[in-house]
Amino acid sequence: MDFDELYQEIILDHYKRPRNCGVLPPPATRGSGFNPACGDEVTVFVQQSPEGKIQSVSFQAQACAICTASTSLMTLQLKGITREEALALQRKFIDFLTKEGPGDGLGNLRALGGVRKFPQRLKCATLGWHALEAALNG
Ligand code: ZN
Repeated sequence: MDFDELYQEIILDHYKRPRNCGVLPPPATRGSGFNPACGDEVTVFVQQSPEGKIQSVSFQAQACAICTASTSLMTLQLKGITREEALALQRKFIDFLTKEGPGDGLGNLRALGGVRKFPQRLKCATLGWHALEAALNG
């Protein structure tokens, strides 16, 4: 397998130095995901404002480079947006990976596009997003 495209510079950077790593205490809500195929474990913490916007987001991961980088990149896109906007971003990201969607507005998350060639890694790339959805649902 040619991993050159899969492990691009952005992915390695976010794997080595994940952003927004850590725990948010209650009343922040949390959601977790586990990917047995790879062994990835991710927990996402979300603090929502009374107006329904995402104030803070963090995560903890014991996960591969793809999963850690995808979740780290995700956290950079969430501050100040609503739950609905976050879920729309999730759908856009999954469409980008599975249906060759254009990925407008995904920013550096487009670095994960190499996963298209490795369908077995799709769960790695989307695990953090499913944990986010669980956290948003409280
Ligand atoms: Zn993985």
